[in-house]
Amino acid sequence: MFSSLPLLPADPILGLSVAYQQDTNPAKVDLGVGIYKNDAGETPVMAAVAAAEALRLRQENSKAYTHPAGYPGANAAVTRLAFGNNHPAADAGRIRTIQTPGGCGALRVAAELIQRARPSATIWVSTPTWANHIPLLGNAGLQLREYPYYDYQSHSIDFPAMLDALRKIPAGDLVLLHAACHNPSGADLSREQWQQVADVALERGFIPFIDMAYQGFGEGLEADSYGPRLLAERLPEVILAVSFSKNFGLYRERAGALSVVFRDSSEADAGLSQLLSVTRALYSMPPAHGSAIIDIILHSDELTRQWQEELDTMRNRISGLRQNLVTSLNAIQQQVDFSFIARERGMFSFLGLNRDQVLQLRRDYSIYMTDNSRISIAGLRNDKLDYVAQAIKSILAS
Ligand code: PMP
Repeated sequence: MFSSLPLLPADPILGLSVAYQQDTNPAKVDLGVGIYKNDAGETPVMAAVAAAEALRLRQENSKAYTHPAGYPGANAAVTRLAFGNNHPAADAGRIRTIQTPGGCGALRVAAELIQRARPSATIWVSTPTWANHIPLLGNAGLQLREYPYYDYQSHSIDFPAMLDALRKIPAGDLVLLHAACHNPSGADLSREQWQQVADVALERGFIPFIDMAYQGFGEGLEADSYGPRLLAERLPEVILAVSFSKNFGLYRERAGALSVVFRDSSEADAGLSQLLSVTRALYSMPPAHGSAIIDIILHSDELTRQWQEELDTMRNRISGLRQNLVTSLNAIQQQVDFSFIARERGMFSFLGLNRDQVLQLRRDYSIYMTDNSRISIAGLRNDKLDYVAQAIKSILAS
């Protein structure tokens, strides 16, 4: 049977990591993989996470199944984290949240729910979007189409083109938006632009489907959830897929959540029953460990404070690196003004190099990034900034 299956090419980002690991050049720099690293190039367990984990190991006395929706207390806490305290949709009993295996799990479960509710729906994704959105959503059987978003020339959102496309979207379709720290461009909607998106969604009747994988990495926990909170206030139906991989550093534990805002609480009850039937058929119930850690942190004032401080440190390191990279690059060459990197947010930016230049950086300088010149800012280190800037200057000049 399996002889009919061809060998697939390696995932480009994972392939890049392997190539980086095999590179023996001591000056090598990994700007490919999208995980947070500190200035020593490590991704340590956050202290608040380690403390909560130690507590859990002492307290957990059973490995019996948990609830199919995950820990109820954690669901209430992560709903507050995403939507804030006393959000009107939460107070009206219109939000249902379930734990999912990471943000990917949330995206896929949402796609399956959409497929049940409206199999003919199209999901509109930004050009560009995170590459994994396409198989995650498309493999649930939904149609995918694109709306214009990032303009590679101006290194910013082409908002008029985006609005123009949104104004033509049929009622009942879904529009995938990135809450903050757009992956792969780093270009985020301003508050005013979120308001305009809400206006068009109301006017047209499309449903916002928001991916929030970096809450706290852009400008802060509240600021980064401005879009989801606003849309959930102004619209009858909103989907929010959340990942805790980055902001709690729980990558391998697969911690995420899916919150759906329904028209009213009875639709919400029906919707939750459908969500649980989707997950039952996919994986039965979510992994417990990561969510239990989040549950402990969010129910302890002290651990919450410690976690937020650590998150602030990560965010400040990224924005500092953005600023320092611009300073280093703009000080040694005038060919390209790289100041856009400091205007962008989160883990990623496009340098705007062509594929040959990217390959040259890899071959001649052991600097690794994806072929489209997307860099993962957290992969930089302050002691490597000058090396990276000099290398970019040389390939721009050649
Ligand atoms: N959405 C986006 C935009 C992401 O960048 C990621 C992680 N790279 C995810 C969702 C999913 O994250 P995970 O499944 O690892 O929690």
